[in-house]
Amino acid sequence: MSRFLSESKKRLVPYTPGEQPKTRKFLKLNTNESPFPPSPKAQQCAAEALGTLELYSDPTCAALVKKACALFGVEEDEILFTNGSDEILNFAFMAFCDAAHPAVFPDITYGFYPVFADVNGVPYREIPLDDNFRICVEDYTPAKGTVFIANPNAPTGTALTLSQIETILKANPDNVVVMDEAYVDFGAESAVGLIHRYDNLLVTRTFSKSRSMAGARLGFGIACKELIRDLNTIKYSTNPYNVNAVTMAAGIGALQDEAYTQKNIQTIIENRTYTVEGLQKIGFEVLPSQTNFIFAKHPGIDGEKLYAALKEKGILVRHFNKERIKAFNRITIGTKEQMQILIHTVTEILTAEGIQ
Ligand code: PMP
Repeated sequence: MSRFLSESKKRLVPYTPGEQPKTRKFLKLNTNESPFPPSPKAQQCAAEALGTLELYSDPTCAALVKKACALFGVEEDEILFTNGSDEILNFAFMAFCDAAHPAVFPDITYGFYPVFADVNGVPYREIPLDDNFRICVEDYTPAKGTVFIANPNAPTGTALTLSQIETILKANPDNVVVMDEAYVDFGAESAVGLIHRYDNLLVTRTFSKSRSMAGARLGFGIACKELIRDLNTIKYSTNPYNVNAVTMAAGIGALQDEAYTQKNIQTIIENRTYTVEGLQKIGFEVLPSQTNFIFAKHPGIDGEKLYAALKEKGILVRHFNKERIKAFNRITIGTKEQMQILIHTVTEILTAEGIQ
């Protein structure tokens, strides 16, 4: 820390991204990326955009907005694109939280929420998940703050139903409710269709998971036009060119190739079932997942020990050193072959430990 760091930032504990090792080739099942490359159409559009990089990108993302509106059934003033969905989440903390509207979110959820709260100097309250690691809707009726719910939740993988989401929206008419739908494409119900009925709903989405574009950094928010206008005020007060031209082009290409996205989603869902069954057969407890990852623990081996043993054998999964969930590991669903390697390797580790 330099002597120049602002007093208000001195105690900031930044978000720790999943490992991206460069030293050795790992089977990467730790950051919920897609195992498939971006659509060929996305790649082609991105390549064409390289020739126009002397110009600033379109701050309104007009061509991308047009395509997305057709796909999601919303108007052009009801959507805002950002640099990953992390950016729109940060905008929401900046726009809709303060001392009178503290952020409220589960105790086990996306680890960036408390960091966004801290960096923006807003107070937050964590509400414990129940013993089955589920969100208790009654805890949010009302929540007495700006609600952030990842649906499905991460790292647990479980989701609320649309009627549960509506219950929360109705109970909090004077607070914004942010539904972070980073993983919704893998089997949960989206709240996008509710934006015309609830002026307090903001839905955030990403191209990082189902559209295989984590490295491009493209996310967006959908909400009524007043909320989107507020978020645009934050965008134009921080970084108007937040989506670069190559990413914007890749996003347009990806939206032109929905069949490719849908096929990959189906494959991931099939591979998830395969993985869950395979791990259950060797004694794992796996939370029901509606995402491209699973959250699993084994009664015979400590979560951190399994994480380390897998790493030793070239497989990276994500372990969280947090009391309530330290028995678990979060494992990204990859290709069938990758999942076969995972199950085989886990079996080997359990055998070596004398557990199988
Ligand atoms: N929300 C949740 C729940 C996530 O797990 C992630 C990815 N780590 C994000 C949002 C942010 O994703 P991105 O910025 O890549 O869109």
